[in-house]
Amino acid sequence: EALGVPALVVDDVTVQFGGIVALNHVSFTIEPGTIHALIGPNGAGKSTCFNAITGVYRTRTGSVTFGDAVLTKLPASRIASQGVGRAFQNLALSPSSTVLDNVMLGRYHLTKGGFFSAALRLPWTMREERRHKERAAAICEFLGISQFLHTPAGLLPYGVQKRVDIARALACEPKLLMLDEPAAGMNSAETDNLAELIKDVRDEIGVSIMLVEHDMSLVMGVADHITVLDFGKRIADGVPSEIQQDEAVIRAYLGA
Ligand code: ADP
Ligand code: MG
Repeated sequence: EALGVPALVVDDVTVQFGGIVALNHVSFTIEPGTIHALIGPNGAGKSTCFNAITGVYRTRTGSVTFGDAVLTKLPASRIASQGVGRAFQNLALSPSSTVLDNVMLGRYHLTKGGFFSAALRLPWTMREERRHKERAAAICEFLGISQFLHTPAGLLPYGVQKRVDIARALACEPKLLMLDEPAAGMNSAETDNLAELIKDVRDEIGVSIMLVEHDMSLVMGVADHITVLDFGKRIADGVPSEIQQDEAVIRAYLGA
């Protein structure tokens, strides 16, 4: 498993917004094929870190590398083609489009022909489109949402929409799947299902997963490795059993 998946190395990254240091010289490594959780109280800098990795925010110091690619030197539009796929904290599905069409959006950067050849409906672009549709449908099957392929995404329950969002991220065939608070707004049964799904993605698709989450209990059950942020700084880094006993982590979560 995890063949051809490189490590993601976050090295000494700082992000500032005016006077606010949202990330303060943070470093950690996501080992290939592992579930790496980034946790911390609200405002700790988790989403900022997520956005620094995906090129949405510029870094003031340090670098993010993924194998040979220096992500911090690339525009956000080129990060997905380096094998980094993201789902969104706030759903960004097109509500009136079907599940299949939403998932197909994730595959656009994989299509060679582009808009004009697709509009001309040349035989080879039709073949390519069929191949992409089959793959998108297979990903939906894996996520247990294939009965909703032709349903407008906006009509589906929240937990299902979250799966559509993850399907779309997986549709770009990432080597690293980035999830920002995927369990937010889910009930406990949906959260348990999500935890199993995340482990299945690691084991059966063989990708690395970065899981940003403030809910400790979800993370403890699925993460191979955890980095903890508080006020923009890394306060702990280790396996779940180490993090659970870490004094600084306990203080941060109790707000003491
Ligand atoms: P978390 O995801 O851990 O809750 P964030 O990364 O969203 O935390 O926020 C970290 C800090 O950076 C907070 O103080 C927040 O107000 C600030 N921040 C985040 N994004 C922006 C932004 N786009 N502009 C200004 N400040 C921001
Ligand atoms: Mg956040």
